[in-house]
Amino acid sequence: MKKLFYEDCHLTEFTATVTGCEKCDKGYLVTLDATAFYPEGGGQACDTGTLGGVKVLDVREKDGKLLHLCDGALTVGEAVEGRIDWARRFDLMQQHTGEHILSGLINARFGYHNTGFHVGADVMEVDFDGPITAAELAELEREANEAIWKNQPVKCWIPSPEELPGVTYRTKRPLPWPVRIVQVGDVDSCACCGIHVAHTGEVGIIKILSCASLRGGVRLEMVCGSRAYRYMAAIFDQNRLVSQTFSAKMLETGEAAQKVQEALTREKQRCAELHSKVFASTAAGYEGFGNVVHFEPSLTSAQVRELATCISQTVTGFAAVFSETEAGFAYCLASREADLRELGKKMTATLNGRGGGKPNFQQGSVAATREAIEAFFAGNP
Ligand SMILES: [Zn+2]
Repeated sequence: MKKLFYEDCHLTEFTATVTGCEKCDKGYLVTLDATAFYPEGGGQACDTGTLGGVKVLDVREKDGKLLHLCDGALTVGEAVEGRIDWARRFDLMQQHTGEHILSGLINARFGYHNTGFHVGADVMEVDFDGPITAAELAELEREANEAIWKNQPVKCWIPSPEELPGVTYRTKRPLPWPVRIVQVGDVDSCACCGIHVAHTGEVGIIKILSCASLRGGVRLEMVCGSRAYRYMAAIFDQNRLVSQTFSAKMLETGEAAQKVQEALTREKQRCAELHSKVFASTAAGYEGFGNVVHFEPSLTSAQVRELATCISQTVTGFAAVFSETEAGFAYCLASREADLRELGKKMTATLNGRGGGKPNFQQGSVAATREAIEAFFAGNP
């Protein structure tokens, strides 16, 4: 069985003869005398596509055979046309080759090994067994993109047993012959059975998205090629919105956002001070009152608590403060010494509410109208 994908990574259509077709739970397992469908392996997902008019859903290598899981039967002995899903394959080759470039650069600089590799639906995760700083990553990313722009060839071959000892390559442990070597320009040499682009330029671009510490090393999230383009185009659209919102130049949005954030913090502080003054003044207006039921619009629950505390200091009874919310009212019952638990319990039961707290400080919400709240307190003076 000829592995056409190793002979030409750009081969998308081919003709082959069906050598076997067996029914299984998920469809039909088809074998061919030659195939361009890459099977799952080496951390790289398999190809999908069509074969003789039926869909190829999955491809695996088992006991030296390449099994194509198809959704329909094919006739043994017949010649069939195979067509692989090129968009999927090219994307996977871009990610995989990009990973080689970065892993090669990291290995040459720090001696670290790639200890994990996963191509997800949106981003690729690559793990290394040593720490890398943000500044070092920025340099590595630039070097990786420079390696792409050099458009150097990617060479894959199996050295003879005599030749192999003379070949330098990246591997976590010694491998028995035959070893397939992938030489990516002058940046990487690695034992790998995966499938790669033919020239580094096809990777297009490499962008590292994040770096997190992981078991003494790091896990990088990165994107290459078409994924990197889509990701950066989406970021650009978001930045345009930020730019328009803050009336800032596209390359100065970060600074503008920081300034707005600082101004917002100052305003919040000023607003809190004003609220405290208003609350003190409101409380002073109730000086000497007994029990007070007070409604105040648009307060946060923290402000409801603050106002109730203020009023409870100037009255002889309790303070009940309410502020309207989308679902009803937020409330706080406060007094200097009186136990308000019974009142709170009765109120939440009557007004469809919930809450609790300390004996002299009850808080929560009620799903009731202002009229119903006033009627409750009129009946419980
Ligand atoms: Zn590879």
